[in-house]
Amino acid sequence: MLKVAKFGGSSVAGAEQFRKVKAIVEADESRRVIVISAAGKRDGNDHKLTDLLYLVHAHLTYGVSCEEILRTVETRLLEIRDELEIPVDISGELQEFKRKLNKDTSVDEIVSRGEYFTSKLMASYLDYAFVDAADCIFFGLDGTLDRETTDAAIAEAVEKYGRIVIPGFYGQLPTGRLRVMSRGGSDITGAIAAAAVKADVYENWTDVSGILMADPRIVPNPAPIEKITFAELRELAFMGASVLHEESVQPVKEKGIPLNIRNTNRPQDPGTMIVESVGELEQSERFITGIAGRKNFTIVTVYKHAMKLSHSLRQALEIFDRYNAPVEHITLGLDSFALVSSSAALGDAVYDVIAEIKKNCRPDEVEIRENIAMVSAVGRKMSSQPGVSGRLFKALGDKGINIRTIAQGSDELAITVGVENEQYENAIRVLYDSFAG
Ligand code: ASP
Repeated sequence: MLKVAKFGGSSVAGAEQFRKVKAIVEADESRRVIVISAAGKRDGNDHKLTDLLYLVHAHLTYGVSCEEILRTVETRLLEIRDELEIPVDISGELQEFKRKLNKDTSVDEIVSRGEYFTSKLMASYLDYAFVDAADCIFFGLDGTLDRETTDAAIAEAVEKYGRIVIPGFYGQLPTGRLRVMSRGGSDITGAIAAAAVKADVYENWTDVSGILMADPRIVPNPAPIEKITFAELRELAFMGASVLHEESVQPVKEKGIPLNIRNTNRPQDPGTMIVESVGELEQSERFITGIAGRKNFTIVTVYKHAMKLSHSLRQALEIFDRYNAPVEHITLGLDSFALVSSSAALGDAVYDVIAEIKKNCRPDEVEIRENIAMVSAVGRKMSSQPGVSGRLFKALGDKGINIRTIAQGSDELAITVGVENEQYENAIRVLYDSFAG
């Protein structure tokens, strides 16, 4: 058994969190590959090392002194080292890093040091080998991952050392320079490492006990999701639930490796298990897996008696495309179709879009409805249960929530309804209470 465990910024924010990570790693022999983020915030007034390092770069660029920020970074790291009596010499390296800094030092070089130093501390604290991401995460010249070289390097490091710590978030370009991923990228490093060593599970340790069935700012104490498929997760993320870095899912999904989201502060919680498919016997009683949504959509409805649907629809889609307004949902009627796009994406172009639709499609009428929220109930069980959509519409209707549009994906994984923006929170609560509560 081999597990890859990635610990996020809040899990390594200070000495206390380091202790929790050590207890988690030591509790399971198979946690042999550890990926570490840069120390994050210890409380609401604190700063992430990564943010401080981005600031260092900005100061250098504008020729403003960054001494104080560098001192804060250094103090954070040395405090952890001293409190835990970690036998690693990072102060020498920190001095060297500071000495070499100048206005031409690349931003990647600077911000990657958050992960680098935090991981050096953690590797020594756990007594694992430190393997620099510069030596095992490789990008091609176009910035995309060089899978083959990366997989081989990680597998070789595990073979050689047995237990390793890799800093997340960055890797090396063919030019030898460092390159950081997008924000939150340590999730991706973890997934890459899990895929490289064909881990039995990829554990992503954070500060929540998994994915919740609904946004806790809207539904009080929503239940956590125990099991969810990658496809369901994609639907929820698309509809606005912020969960994992999107690119962090692909490497493990491809290899059929389950992804387990866990809470460093509550290791006793099982968290959420994300899998390719859920066996019949493991199905939960719930009809739906989760609820998510977003506000501020515009619905453009085109009416035309006896239209050639495919022709008019294609024309309308092309017009949206030309104005860079992605169509997120489509509903069809006999003599009409409706396209739903985010109001922000449409912007003022909405008037040109309408004008062009009128010119090209020659409709009887075009209607626009703004301030629409789209709310999705997502669940793999919906396709096998008759009457779920009926129940859903009834629940909303009983509470006086007007449904402006309905869209069901062809894979029957989600039912999405459009309601007025001001009914958004209400709709989510009603759906949660009727299906999950
Ligand atoms: N430290 C980086 C960030 O704050 C990457 C990560 O934490 O995953 O975005």
